[in-house]
Amino acid sequence: MHPDCIFCKIIRGEAPSTMLYEDEQVVAFKDIAPIAPVHVLIVPRLHIPSAAEVTEENTALIGHLIVVAARVAREQGVAERGYRLVTNVGREGGQQVYHLHWHLLGGRQMRGLG
Ligand code: AMP
Repeated sequence: MHPDCIFCKIIRGEAPSTMLYEDEQVVAFKDIAPIAPVHVLIVPRLHIPSAAEVTEENTALIGHLIVVAARVAREQGVAERGYRLVTNVGREGGQQVYHLHWHLLGGRQMRGLG
């Protein structure tokens, strides 16, 4: 837990969120500034700054995150049409919040990767 991390605060219920899924390892809540009709953040409870800091010890956790993302995609009704899972890493990767997360984006056609 990092005291100044907004996602840690959301995970502990100390900051507001629209929570869609929770288990012992992972939470999923709506992005506050959605860029698609479905924009959900899939977030491990463990504070890992980014995908660059993931270690072998975290491999099961990362696999579980993808399982949760697929479940949330089904629940949000985008599984059949398709969706995008993105994790930004570092400054040029466009990362704003340094607590590992995947963006689940769906409900419109995705284009490009820029
Ligand atoms: P990234 O640029 O990959 O670090 O993405 C961070 C995301 O977190 C952005 O899409 C923000 O809109 C989102 N975000 C920031 N603060 C909050 C918050 N309090 N609740 C929900 N989403 C947030």
